[in-house]
Amino acid sequence: MQRLTPLQEAQQTVLAATSTLGLEKVGLLEALGRVLGEDLIASRDNPPWDNSAMDGFAVRWEDIKQDHAIAKPAVLTVIEDVPAGKVATKSVGPGQAIRIMTGASVPKGADTVVKVEETEPSGDTVRIFKAPDRGANIRPCGEDVKKGDRIIAKGTVLRPAEIGILAILAKSFVFVHQRPRVAILSTGDELADLDERFDEDKIINSNSYGIAAAVQEAGGIPILLGIAKDQPADLKDKIAHGLNADVLVLSGGVSMGDYDFTKAVFKELGAEMNFWKLAIRPGQPLAFGKIAGKLAFGLPGNPVSSMVTFEQLVRPAMLKLSGQRSYIRPVMQALFQETFSKRNDRRHFLRGVLSRENGVLTVRTTGDQGSGILTSMVKANCLIDVPEAVERLNPGDTVTVQVLSAQLEDREEAAKPSTGHRPSCC
Ligand code: AMP
Ligand code: MG
Repeated sequence: MQRLTPLQEAQQTVLAATSTLGLEKVGLLEALGRVLGEDLIASRDNPPWDNSAMDGFAVRWEDIKQDHAIAKPAVLTVIEDVPAGKVATKSVGPGQAIRIMTGASVPKGADTVVKVEETEPSGDTVRIFKAPDRGANIRPCGEDVKKGDRIIAKGTVLRPAEIGILAILAKSFVFVHQRPRVAILSTGDELADLDERFDEDKIINSNSYGIAAAVQEAGGIPILLGIAKDQPADLKDKIAHGLNADVLVLSGGVSMGDYDFTKAVFKELGAEMNFWKLAIRPGQPLAFGKIAGKLAFGLPGNPVSSMVTFEQLVRPAMLKLSGQRSYIRPVMQALFQETFSKRNDRRHFLRGVLSRENGVLTVRTTGDQGSGILTSMVKANCLIDVPEAVERLNPGDTVTVQVLSAQLEDREEAAKPSTGHRPSCC
């Protein structure tokens, strides 16, 4: 009997065979969600000069330092008015003030800004009733970004905040990693595609679309190759079309059935192919290797198995290809709410609903866990990762979950109330 391969071993093999793609230059507005391909070193300070944090008066603190009362305010001569975007032409001397707006450069000679609410302008003088601390209301040059500092590290996924900083640093283009192109081929004589007329006895090819969406979600570009018949010649022909991509993902045909030709064709085309029987459920049979230098995966055909194995093996490879530093989903601990039992030979990925109840993270399954029940993925916002050795889980046990979606509460309604419910196995 074929040995069961631990998932971790398969993941290591996949990642060891995967190298990161090259860089491309994109405009700033196309950079959201892309992976930065170079360390970003600040080419300038931000703010570029000391500037006012308030509308008010730029003064010398020495002139106002006594705590002036309403009855005896400090009186300074206003020598200039500086709106934002303008620079003072004069410098503040003893007994003088310059009127200044938020964001304007602090004039020479001044070391403090008094906010307008604590003053009373009168003609060309201003009365100041209360002295703030020395240096108050001034945003110093470089308080946000210092020239020469590494502001964003290579491998960072760019979010709106990073796009903003790139704009601050006057970068209208940025070097990011290329997005992995993933060719997707479904196999099986029983399948029909969405755009063809088909008889009732056909099964709609859903895997291609689910996998394509998973590719997009992971930052890749899906290329749909359609459906290959359960015939070696058709498989070979369609696989050849996929070899322009960075990754080829097949679904179906990797089991031991009479019509499962993926293995035989992979063996013929690829060097060093692995044909694993993974120690996981769902999703046991899996083929992986390289064909013409491209990563090639043969995922199991059952819809849940193909999605779960994509999550555990193809997605990490895609994240490595796209230059990310971490290849995993967020992982959390939560309190299991049901009873569950299994044999101690396979790691299980139960589809789960993660909720926050009274400040505590809890998780329950989505119900029946059959590998053809795709609605178990629809209802899920996480995968409950039950290790190989665990034989039983009881309510209140701490489990590890891989978070698939940030929507915790929204999903609560969608899931069946299931305390004490015992899910059937895949
Ligand atoms: P296989 O791994 O080829 O034995 O396929 C296992 C089962 O998964 C098949 O009986 C189909 O019901 C289902 N299946 C295979 N490929 C697809 C697909 N592309 N879309 C939906 N279901 C599929
Ligand atoms: Mg098949």
